[in-house]
Amino acid sequence: MSHEGIRFVPKDEEAREKEESRPLPRIAVTPEKVRVFLSEGKGVEIDWIDGHHSAWTFAWLRDACPCATCVEERALEGRKPGQPKPKPTAALPMYTPPPKPKSAHAVGRYALQFNWLDGHSGGIYSWEYLRRVCQCRECTFAAEEATGTPN
Ligand SMILES: [Zn+2]
Ligand SMILES: [Zn+2]
Repeated sequence: MSHEGIRFVPKDEEAREKEESRPLPRIAVTPEKVRVFLSEGKGVEIDWIDGHHSAWTFAWLRDACPCATCVEERALEGRKPGQPKPKPTAALPMYTPPPKPKSAHAVGRYALQFNWLDGHSGGIYSWEYLRRVCQCRECTFAAEEATGTPN
C-alpha cells in the first residue's frame, strides 16, 4: 500500500497563507448605517454592525478610487489609496475645487459608486474595500504596524 499522490500541506504554512488574504468577518464588512454627506461635500461615514465607525473625505475617496485605471496609476506612481497626486511645481497657482461627487448610489447591497464632478465614475467601493481602508486611528495604526512603516 502506497501513500504516493497524497500531499500534505504543512499546517503552519497553510495558516500563514490564509492570514495574508484573510477575508474580513462578515460583521466587519456589513454597514449598519451609511451616510453620504453629498450636499455638505464632506464625505462618507459608515457605522459597521461590529460597532466600528469609519469616515472618509470625498477628496480621500477620489484618490482611493478602486477602478482598474486608478489602481494601476497609483501603482505606477507608488501612491497608496487616498494619497493625492503630487502637484506640478511649475504650474501657476490655480484654484482646483476639492473632489466631490455629483451623485452617489448603492451598487446592489455590497458597494457604493460615485459620479465625480470630474466625470469619473468607474470605481466600485465595496464595503470590504472601504473597511480595509478605514482611516480611523486604530486601523491606520494597525496598518502601519503591519507594514513596518516607521513613525
Ligand atoms: Zn478610478
Ligand atoms: Zn477603523
